[in-house]
Amino acid sequence: MNFPSFGFGRKRRVEDRHFMVIGLGRFGQAVVRTLIDLGFEVMGVDCDEKIVEHLVAEQLPMPIVSVDSTDPLALRQLGMQDFDTVIVAIGDDFLEQSVITTLHVKDLGVRHVVAKASSDIHGTLLKKVGADQVVYPEKEMGMELARSLTQPNILDRLELDADNSIVEVPVPNEYFGKTILELELRRQYNVSILAVETNGKYDVNPNPSMQLQKGSSIILIGTNRDICRLPIGCAVSDLHAFSGNQHR
Ligand code: ATP
Repeated sequence: MNFPSFGFGRKRRVEDRHFMVIGLGRFGQAVVRTLIDLGFEVMGVDCDEKIVEHLVAEQLPMPIVSVDSTDPLALRQLGMQDFDTVIVAIGDDFLEQSVITTLHVKDLGVRHVVAKASSDIHGTLLKKVGADQVVYPEKEMGMELARSLTQPNILDRLELDADNSIVEVPVPNEYFGKTILELELRRQYNVSILAVETNGKYDVNPNPSMQLQKGSSIILIGTNRDICRLPIGCAVSDLHAFSGNQHR
């Protein structure tokens, strides 16, 4: 499986074709370049003329303009209403500009505004001024790294919310040759098997009489806490890192 690294559980917006990215630092540029690679139309905006000149010189297949996004008139002149999604990628050094920009973009009627936050308070402010989605790249990458280092047996993971996930794990040694029914995972661990993967093929809603084999993997849904109770090498001390929440 290949789950996206963040934005788990959010509705996909496949209908979106026209993107604007405001703020072309490292994060904004990564978004821009990936959207271009995926074949979408993107406009890039940054108030720093040097950055704009540098990117224009690269001859990327997209318009890149030097505009101060805290100016609502300038934003209107860019044809803001024609964009499906605007990503406000202004970060740490310009918190005020990021909040003001998000406010204006939303006021101009853009349906889907994604804003990058560098702290919880920044994220709260962005939500208050209308951001539809707030991302915390540094925090999310840090959590993901901690998980991948401490839970090598989790092959992939879809975080449904702070407490619940869908994970893909190799069939543990003690499950080899046992049927799904025999394992009683629902009764013992309160988790359910959604699918079993063997040689790259997924058997969805597998029959309870199916025997699990070495080399296969299972896709499970459950709370993070219950998933960690399974014999998959996920230590109890990893629980906090795993769920990424503070209330346990
Ligand atoms: P990075 O994405 O490199 O990690 P960062 O999170 O530190 O960077 P900033 O450097 O704070 O983000 O901002 C990213 C970009 O946003 C910068 O290139 C900056 O010039 C641009 N920017 C800041 N304010 C505005 C504004 N009012 N209008 C347009 N662009 C802006």
